[in-house]
Amino acid sequence: MARLKFFGVRGSHPTPGKDNSKFGGNTSCAVLYSDADVAGEFPIILDLGTGLTCFADSQPLDGSFHGIALLTHLHFDHIQGLPFFTPIDRQNARLVIYGPNEDGVSLADSLNTLIGPPFFPVTLADLRGDIVVESILVEEIKLDQPGSPTIYSRAVDHTNATFGFRIQVDDRVIAYVPDHQAPLDNATVSDSVLELCRDADLLIHDAQYTRKEFSGKPHWGHSTYDFALSVATKSNAKTLAFFHHDPRRSDIELGEIEESYRNSSSPAGLRIFAAREGKTLEI
Ligand SMILES: [Zn+2]
Ligand SMILES: [Zn+2]
Repeated sequence: MARLKFFGVRGSHPTPGKDNSKFGGNTSCAVLYSDADVAGEFPIILDLGTGLTCFADSQPLDGSFHGIALLTHLHFDHIQGLPFFTPIDRQNARLVIYGPNEDGVSLADSLNTLIGPPFFPVTLADLRGDIVVESILVEEIKLDQPGSPTIYSRAVDHTNATFGFRIQVDDRVIAYVPDHQAPLDNATVSDSVLELCRDADLLIHDAQYTRKEFSGKPHWGHSTYDFALSVATKSNAKTLAFFHHDPRRSDIELGEIEESYRNSSSPAGLRIFAAREGKTLEI
C-alpha cells in the first residue's frame, strides 16, 4: 500500500472563489508516502504549485523536514509554491528537487533565476534549509527510504521540456502526467507515455479540456477528458484521476463531467474520478 494526498489540482493559475471551492483552486501538488513511512517523514512531492503551501501547514517547522520533490517542468503553476514553503526555511531542513533542464539551461540555474529579485524578494539560497536541485539525466532513480521508491521519468509532449513520472513504491505504481499535449485525433498515445502508465494502480493525468474546448486550443499543451481516458485504457491503468482542471471549470461542471465519465465511458474495471484538494487515496 501507498498513500497519496492531493493539495493542488488546478491547471494554469490558482482560482480562489466559491465556484471552485469544492474541487479546490490551488495549482499542481500531490504528496505520496510509502505505507511503511508511518510517521510521514519521507514525503515524495509531485510538483510545487500553490498547493504546496497547504501541504506546508501539516509539516514541522523545527528544521526536521526532509523531502523529495519531483518537478515535471518549470511553468509557474508547478513551481509557485516553492518560495512560500516555510518548512524549508529552517536550519537543517532539506528538500531535494529533481526536474528537467531546459534548452541547455540547468534546472538549478532556471530556479535561481525565477526565484530571486526582481521576480521574488529572496533567493532559494536565502532560505535557511538545504535545497538541493538535481537535473534529471537518467531514466531511473532509486531512493533509499521506506517503501524503496523507484522513479522512472520520460519526456512528455507539452510546450517545453516536460517530464512525466512513474513512481513505484510498496509494489504499487503511480503515474503522474499532469501536463500532456493531446494529439489531434485524441487517441494516439506515445510509447514513452505508455511506458510510464502501464498497469498503473493510479494514473493522474491532464484533463483540462472538453473536446469542444480542445478544438479551439489544439496546441496549448493539454489533454481532453477523452484523451486521458484513452491513455488510461491503452495502458491498462486501474484508476484514473482527472487532473490539472481548467481554471474556468466550476465545481458544478466538474461534478457533472466526473459523473458522466463514471457512468458511461469507463471500460469495465477502470475507476475514474476528478482529483480534488484534500482527498487522500490508499493505493
Ligand atoms: Zn501546468
Ligand atoms: Zn505546463
